[in-house]
Amino acid sequence: MSRWVEVLFNIPLHQSFTYKLKDDQICAAGMRVEVPFGRQQKVTAFVIKVFDELPGNLDFDASKIKEINRVIDKEPIFDEAFIELARWISQFYLCSHGEALSAMLPSGRREVKASSDAFVDDFIGNQKLVLSEEQQKAVAGITADNSSSFMHYLYGSTGSGKTEVFLQCAEFMLAKNKGVIYLVPEIALTAQVVEAVTGRFGKTAAVLHSGLTPSQKLSEWRRIISKEARVVVGARSAVFAPVPDLGMIIIDEEHDGSYKSGTTPRYHARQVAMKRCSADKIPLVMGSATPSAEAWALMNDGRITKHVLTRRLAGGAMPEISIVDLSKEDLTGCISPQLEKEINETYKENRQTILFLNRRGFTHFFRCKTCGYELFCKNCSVPMTFHKKEGRLRCHYCGWTEQPPTVCPECGSVDVGYSGFGTEFIENELATKFPHLRSIRVDTDILTKKGELQEKLEIFKKGGADILLGTQMIAKGLNFPGVKLVGIINADTALHMPDFRAAERTFALIVQVAGRAGRYFPDGKVIVQTWNPSRSAISKACSSDFESFYKEELEARRLALFPPFARLIRLVFRSKNQKDAEDSAAYVANALQEKASNCEILGPAECALALISLNHRYQVLLRGQYLTPLQKLCDSFLKSYKVPQGVYIEVDVDPVSLL
Ligand code: ADP
Ligand code: ZN
Ligand code: ZN
Repeated sequence: MSRWVEVLFNIPLHQSFTYKLKDDQICAAGMRVEVPFGRQQKVTAFVIKVFDELPGNLDFDASKIKEINRVIDKEPIFDEAFIELARWISQFYLCSHGEALSAMLPSGRREVKASSDAFVDDFIGNQKLVLSEEQQKAVAGITADNSSSFMHYLYGSTGSGKTEVFLQCAEFMLAKNKGVIYLVPEIALTAQVVEAVTGRFGKTAAVLHSGLTPSQKLSEWRRIISKEARVVVGARSAVFAPVPDLGMIIIDEEHDGSYKSGTTPRYHARQVAMKRCSADKIPLVMGSATPSAEAWALMNDGRITKHVLTRRLAGGAMPEISIVDLSKEDLTGCISPQLEKEINETYKENRQTILFLNRRGFTHFFRCKTCGYELFCKNCSVPMTFHKKEGRLRCHYCGWTEQPPTVCPECGSVDVGYSGFGTEFIENELATKFPHLRSIRVDTDILTKKGELQEKLEIFKKGGADILLGTQMIAKGLNFPGVKLVGIINADTALHMPDFRAAERTFALIVQVAGRAGRYFPDGKVIVQTWNPSRSAISKACSSDFESFYKEELEARRLALFPPFARLIRLVFRSKNQKDAEDSAAYVANALQEKASNCEILGPAECALALISLNHRYQVLLRGQYLTPLQKLCDSFLKSYKVPQGVYIEVDVDPVSLL
């Protein structure tokens, strides 16, 4: 007797395929198989159904059905509910069911124990802390059965003990034999939270981080399915963790951009978590000191229950923040006299300084002083950055490097130089201004080895340096007792991005970076250097005027019809051939326009990042009050549209950025 399987592939086709099992092959839904497909001999496929008899209404010749080569998994790695979730993802984010499944599953073939699992190895069984009154109220509110909404928000200032509240909520769930998913931004940057979780739960915890090989991920996946691990900590994709009897999903630093995937399907972990939690009728607990504008609006409406933490509990207090107006300074470097003085005083008190440099838009560019010519990457529409150590210009998008020109390629002037500053330049400035201070620099340029970031941060934590200089990497989650001073070298850079979230990002970044000061002693100081001290994102972050920042920001979004007051779908057309990209964007914009009702079609327009790795980029935006009509319009159109050769369309539902 023959048996058949229905499988899906990781391809953009909205259909499943049928294969035949050999007599001795043991297979069930939820396993992966290897099959011949098209011209390829070994393609991984996901089994969604096994059946004994072929259905009568086949639209193809049953004798042409091929056999599968082999069954990859011994046990299923996903179940019916997982297949359903993948179906939802594919419908919501407009990709195929197979693409969704593939993105949700670990890709490893053979299980390999995460041997050097340092996290779990130094399990110390950390004891619970005695909760403050505010924390107690939060835990009680979140775990109460009678809550009006399944969504909760722990809105607590930086250093107010959110982690402990999350941990005790997780313990509450474990005691009821329920599992927990605990999401953190990028795991390397949030090692302290991971340590807290594994330190509390030991082998009951599984960690899904980017440092694991695919095989190690598969092995953690199995520990979760078999209920050996009940608390899963991980970055974005851990939201898919197959936790049996899931009791709660926690999202730490909810505002963080890394929760949105940059590849198909472009899912947002918060959206997926909302879906899972509402389907299972379990609490979703988000937390941050700087909620996204969307979450803030939902709290205002009462659709998310807000729990507030206001006090620092480790002996610290909120730092004193002062602004340095760069337009009134005449600086040759990038450290103002005020900041210089504070760094020296902090050092005299035997305390430490963190200097934060927003990498984006604030690196060192080649510029002609005569005609203003800036050297751009030949593959991407971004300026080239100068790296002193190698003496070369480098593109941060595609990696292209070249020798810096000695004369301006545009006008021939020899009066060429650089503008802007990178961490490398500030490092030199520090060495000149503070020859007796030891500094450590962390940014992606120098951190190539695994574990190097952790190592450097550990040295700083133990007092092995006086200054920590870094980019976005040091904005989040760091908890250093010795830090007294935080200096933000230039607060403005994120502000000038042509993106509707620019103000929200600038605000969050300042608050988060400032929050690294004064965590254990009540004398923290923050100095914010800016060219735009009157811009609300900056002034309100510095005066800790949260309510009025969000009020203004939401009003601006409402007037400009941006989320959360409108929903968006963004289509990006990219091609090596500019005309092809432009033409297909124009064609699609036009075609959508004809069918659009209840929604607006914006574009076609060149993307702000018009060229990346030699790909020209054009975009079309669909905007409307509700998402469903946009999804329907887009979906039915894309299913019938034959994408021209050489053009690729990125579909982004609820985009978080429009660059
Ligand atoms: P957040 O995540 O809100 O920024 P953390 O969770 O990192 O803050 O907590 C900041 C510090 O406060 C940590 O050192 C933590 O150990 C300490 N802390 C948290 N809760 C308590 C408590 N109930 N009693 C004493 N210290 C606490
Ligand atoms: Zn010139
Ligand atoms: Zn480039």
